[in-house]
Amino acid sequence: MALIVQKYGGSSVADSEKIKSVARRIARAKDEGNQLVVVVSAMGDTTDELIRMAQQVSEQPDERELDMLLSTGELISSTLLVMALESLGYKAVSLTGGQAGIQTDSSYSQARILRVDPQRILAELEKGNIVIVAGFQGVTQDMDITTLGRGGSDTTAVALAASLNAEVCQIYTDVEGVYTADPRLVSEATKLKEIGYEEMLELASYGAKILHPRAVELGGLYDMPILVASSFSDSPGTLICKEASMEVRNKARGIAQDTNVAKITVINVPDHPGIAAAIFEPLAKANISVDTIVQNASIENITDLTFTVARSDLVKAMSIVEPVIKSIGAKRCVTDSTLAKVSIVGTGMQNTPGYAARMFRALYEQGINIQLITTSEIRITCIIAEDRVKDAVQALHKAFELEIA
Ligand code: ADP
Ligand code: ASP
Ligand code: MG
Repeated sequence: MALIVQKYGGSSVADSEKIKSVARRIARAKDEGNQLVVVVSAMGDTTDELIRMAQQVSEQPDERELDMLLSTGELISSTLLVMALESLGYKAVSLTGGQAGIQTDSSYSQARILRVDPQRILAELEKGNIVIVAGFQGVTQDMDITTLGRGGSDTTAVALAASLNAEVCQIYTDVEGVYTADPRLVSEATKLKEIGYEEMLELASYGAKILHPRAVELGGLYDMPILVASSFSDSPGTLICKEASMEVRNKARGIAQDTNVAKITVINVPDHPGIAAAIFEPLAKANISVDTIVQNASIENITDLTFTVARSDLVKAMSIVEPVIKSIGAKRCVTDSTLAKVSIVGTGMQNTPGYAARMFRALYEQGINIQLITTSEIRITCIIAEDRVKDAVQALHKAFELEIA
């Protein structure tokens, strides 16, 4: 008897008919003789609606209260799914993240899982129950409810799969797997049969929202195979696993785009030791991740410093950076929140020249201006105007011949 963890995303449980259809899929897997732990997201756009409701009553909702509110979305879908399973004649039980043993730190809205204690899940499985777990949430040591960041139900699923030593973690969603680019932007995008953790992590971290980056990170860490497939069809999906063969390394594996980008430029910064630490330390303390950092060559010991943050962090970042600018004697700060990142990812680009040049030419031929560039060993990212993202992704998909499976 195999233990399988499944996860169904928001669009897969968007209404009562879809919940009933998911219940039938779960029932089928149970009939095949498996033990099942199923993680669900909130129905459809529930999380967005809850955030809107909070904003209607408060300009800056309290972080703890907001997480408590958002966690209710997943309680609705998990309990309804149990009811649907029971009406099909199956024994099932719903658990909150806390009841499922997911313990987190207390960084509300982006909490990290510290440990999973799956005792209750194991006890319910022992009783023959299908266990339905509310995704995206955990509890602190003080029993306060936290959420794991938008899209975090994927991370709940992989964390549970790892701690239960499941055979596989199956992520069911509204597309048939991981494609060479977002199939909603590029109609020629092709589905990948397999992809390694490192490439998937780069794609997810740079905007491919098909999977939460931390879910991929955990998958790699615990060597947990993750299958991404459709909840609406029986098409085989994409397996994320350890690279099958070192030699079968791909040219460029995929393209990701991210429009949650803002740029901050600090102008006329005195160029002496300690300045970068003075700017970036308080940002790190406030839990704001900084991505691309570019410092111009200094002229007469004065330089400009540019970096990017998530657009959703811009206001908070500026409230931290502005007082620092004064204290270090820089002139002023300018921001731009109409930008986006496009990235090409592939292990094949390690030690292979020519990828960057090909990327820059493809963007140039579309008349797209590159504002900043960052790279990792297996990724090249260009920061461009947000309104050119679709053209950029389509042009890059063609330039790297990704339509050829
Ligand atoms: P769920 O609600 O199931 O978690 P998401 O909306 O979070 O689903 O993720 C699925 C979406 O991810 C797809 O509808 C697709 O538009 C988008 N997506 C972005 N990049 C890719 C990619 N490379 N392959 C497949 N889907 C992608
Ligand atoms: N419901 C949460 C969100 O919309 C978590 C998830 O769907 O994974 O972000
Ligand atoms: Mg998702």
